Amino acid sequence: MLGVIERLRNEKIAFSTDYEDLIAYCKDFNPLHQLKILKKATPALPEVVVFPKSVEEVSKVLKIANELKVPVYVFGGASGVIDSATPYEGGIALSTLALDWVEIDEENMLVTAGAGVIGGRLEKLLNHRGFSLRHIPQSLFCSTVGGWVATASSGQFSTGYGNIENLLVSLKVVLPNGEILEERKTPRRAGIDLKKLFVGSEGLLGVIAEVTMKIFELPKEVVKLSFEYNSIESALEDAKKFLKLKPALMRIFDDEETLRYFDSESFSLILIFEGENAKKQAEKAKEISSGIEVEGYADLWLEKRFDVSDISKIGILGFIFDTIEVSCFWNSASKLYKAVIEAIRSVEGTVTASAHASHFYDSGLCFYFTFAGFPSEPEEYYREVWQKAITASLQNGGNITHHHGIGRLRKAWLRDEFGSYLSFLKELKLLVDKNNIMNRGVFP
Ligand SMILES: Cc1cc2nc3c(=O)[nH]c(=O)nc-3n(C[C@H](O)[C@H](O)[C@H](O)COP(=O)(O)OP(=O)(O)OC[C@H]3O[C@@H](n4cnc5c(N)ncnc54)[C@H](O)[C@@H]3O)c2cc1C
Repeated sequence: MLGVIERLRNEKIAFSTDYEDLIAYCKDFNPLHQLKILKKATPALPEVVVFPKSVEEVSKVLKIANELKVPVYVFGGASGVIDSATPYEGGIALSTLALDWVEIDEENMLVTAGAGVIGGRLEKLLNHRGFSLRHIPQSLFCSTVGGWVATASSGQFSTGYGNIENLLVSLKVVLPNGEILEERKTPRRAGIDLKKLFVGSEGLLGVIAEVTMKIFELPKEVVKLSFEYNSIESALEDAKKFLKLKPALMRIFDDEETLRYFDSESFSLILIFEGENAKKQAEKAKEISSGIEVEGYADLWLEKRFDVSDISKIGILGFIFDTIEVSCFWNSASKLYKAVIEAIRSVEGTVTASAHASHFYDSGLCFYFTFAGFPSEPEEYYREVWQKAITASLQNGGNITHHHGIGRLRKAWLRDEFGSYLSFLKELKLLVDKNNIMNRGVFP
């Protein structure tokens, strides 16, 4: 490591070996890490944290690491939940937070941002000029644009505007050997879309250093609707019909979440329409709905949508809490929902298991399960819930992840998800990262 530090110093790249900085870069938001931290233990520790402030500096850091075969763990906001960039093998934690430039191109409806720009800051800058990313993950204020691309993130308005891969226009990437990749920016091209290799790459193939994304005008008209249902099936049936009206946002809450959010004993659905046709679309939704229209659920949810204070508190009390998001086609939806809830509830120690559906497509949707347990052996309990829930999803037409990603948490199911593409992925990793420096230990 001395060699690394000397080279960083010579290159005048900001770095720190202070214990408080090493601790700040020892984990992501996975709940097992929170448990360790509560016991004053660190899940892992890097040997140095580097803060490159330009694409060229990222390149220099990776060249040094590659030559000396030192592992590099890439950190954006560290809001990831999949035990991904945890530096179990020490080495370098590369923080992208100093890659923080923003350039707004109003004419072409684009924004270019350094990978470390925090989403909430970017959204506010755009809002001041009358624009929005419309990519609004719940972690908006603690995640970075580079992290969004690296995890194939999905925002609350994905039903209307698409996920990060649909909003992406161009990327600047630095490969593990320090080579900088940059393409001609264009609204569209034919040929292989190589930048997509980095969507969901979770720091395994290099560092995403700059992101160009679409922007949208802030909607002038917004109409919100809320309905109640007596079963998940009837809510799902309506959701499929509503989708044809092109809502910006739609969410179904199961009975447990409806009780938690809206204090009512039923299933519920909220809809948000945006733009000049919003009123007309909302009127049509009311006509075709089989649910009972209720007041204010959408507003209540909008108010609370970034609030995670409850979950932050229950960890300290000894509960373990997590979320599992999977996707499935429409024809498996209610079967999958019931199977996963049952699987989670079957694990001893479970206090609550609930779900909402929050991202919708013509062909299917994402179910987002939330569980909390008060077990005697938290780690064993946690692993058993994950094992049973993912098995139930796979056996009932679902997959292993919709938008949180793979990391170490879902590594065991990689072959179930990627099939024979997995061998191709292994070859690609070997080709791009010969010395296996990037997020070492994550990929099998
Ligand atoms: C309360 C809460 C709410 C959340 N809500 C959502 C949500 O609504 N939608 C959603 O999609 N996710 C959500 N997440 C998960 C998380 O916020 C996303 O995965 C987010 O995209 C991670 O961004 P980050 O900058 O924090 O990345 P990090 O956590 O720092 O990193 C995540 C992974 O990406 C890699 N990485 C990060 N930046 C780069 C880069 N520039 N180049 C290469 N690799 C990089 C890391 O190595 C790691 O493997 C939530 C998490 C929390 C804690």
